[in-house]
Amino acid sequence: MLIDLTIIKDTPTAFDFTLAANQVELDSDAAKVAEVVRVAGKLKKGIVQTDVEGLVSTVLEVECVRCLQTVEMPLEITFRVGFIGAEHYTREKDAEVNITDLEISISENDKIDLTEVVREQILLNLPDRVLCRENCLGFCEKCGANRNLIDCSCIKKETDPRWAALKTLN
Ligand SMILES: [Zn+2]
Ligand SMILES: [Zn+2]
Repeated sequence: MLIDLTIIKDTPTAFDFTLAANQVELDSDAAKVAEVVRVAGKLKKGIVQTDVEGLVSTVLEVECVRCLQTVEMPLEITFRVGFIGAEHYTREKDAEVNITDLEISISENDKIDLTEVVREQILLNLPDRVLCRENCLGFCEKCGANRNLIDCSCIKKETDPRWAALKTLN
């Protein structure tokens, strides 16, 4: 979804569109977009800076950090980003103290790629340390079995040093 700023007349301009899951490539082994991405918001074009704000909602497929099983996670992100034309960028960046709390990107050739904004926002908001369930047992350190599925009993077989101590008493 490419917005050409030169043809934007009304400001703010509202946008509302969807992206197919495969249009938003996260380049991550641990997470991918699993459902249609809904994007809605508005774009406020200024003389130097254009502000984009909106809401992104979708469902991600994320790997459990312990057992690598995929888990579906709904994601809802509100975002606000500013764009500055490359010709203004250096000057505005020097004055960045004045434009805090807003992420500033460069708009190349007066265009803003909203698909890229969406992708960045999802990446910024990826959940870390996802578990398929709170007490996920993960993989056995000894034999590599998924302990949610198989009770490999490696851990039980290991001799507890306290029992070993008792044995010597007999
Ligand atoms: Zn798990
Ligand atoms: Zn095991």
